[in-house]
Amino acid sequence: MKVLVPVKRVVDYNVKIRVKADGTGVDLNNVKMSMNPFDEIGVEEALRLKEAGKASEVVVVSIGPAQAAETLRSGLAMGADRGILVKTDATVEPLAVAKLLKAVIGNENPGLVILGKQAIDDDMNATGQMLAALLGWPQGTFASKLEVGGDKIDVVREVDGGLQTVSLNLPAIITTDLRLNEPRYASLPNIMKAKKKPIDETSPEALGVDIAPRLTVVKTVEPPARQAGKKVGSVAELVDKLKNEAGVI
Ligand code: AMP
Repeated sequence: MKVLVPVKRVVDYNVKIRVKADGTGVDLNNVKMSMNPFDEIGVEEALRLKEAGKASEVVVVSIGPAQAAETLRSGLAMGADRGILVKTDATVEPLAVAKLLKAVIGNENPGLVILGKQAIDDDMNATGQMLAALLGWPQGTFASKLEVGGDKIDVVREVDGGLQTVSLNLPAIITTDLRLNEPRYASLPNIMKAKKKPIDETSPEALGVDIAPRLTVVKTVEPPARQAGKKVGSVAELVDKLKNEAGVI
């Protein structure tokens, strides 16, 4: 079984982002970019399936500018077999990403696709669900455990107030939650080996997909600055402030 893992190049989770002065978005100049953390979890899970003899090949795919090839190299350095870059400088919204992934899946025929539950830049949490709908495939979202057996996969899902297990027929779409696994670090020898692994390049035009945006960003604002803390003299004063100033009790 081939496993396809879509990996997005996003602002590194350690970066304190700055909003552009004109409010049109986030400033990406000289900002460290990395693989979306939920996608690292997806790559890790695919590699574990391969190591357990349940997957034969792990293919990483990224949609984005030429630099998204670096994100693919990170996946290859973790252990993925090859990469596919769908090159575009345009902004691609979840529906466009899902349509492009559907086209890639049509060429690759994977048995399983593991996406992140959300990309930490736009927090859309939409692509996996849209892809499952476009393909008519079963979906197991917010996965915290996977068990592949024969032509089925059991997915433990993190839902409000507990865990739910669903059994899906393969091929299926999975989206990862934080607790699914802890991704490995790429070792130096594997980083060197990854340089020789193949990355195929294609484009939205070659895949015949219209990626015209449908959403308009009205404005982007910084969160309000936190006010300095205040020292209180007694519990009674604290309760009074919580009740009458903060209005939280
Ligand atoms: P989102 O719906 O944008 O929050 O993204 C959910 C997941 O879809 C991500 O964790 C990735 O696995 C995948 N994805 C979204 N955008 C891209 C992209 N440009 N390239 C590759 N995968 C993507």
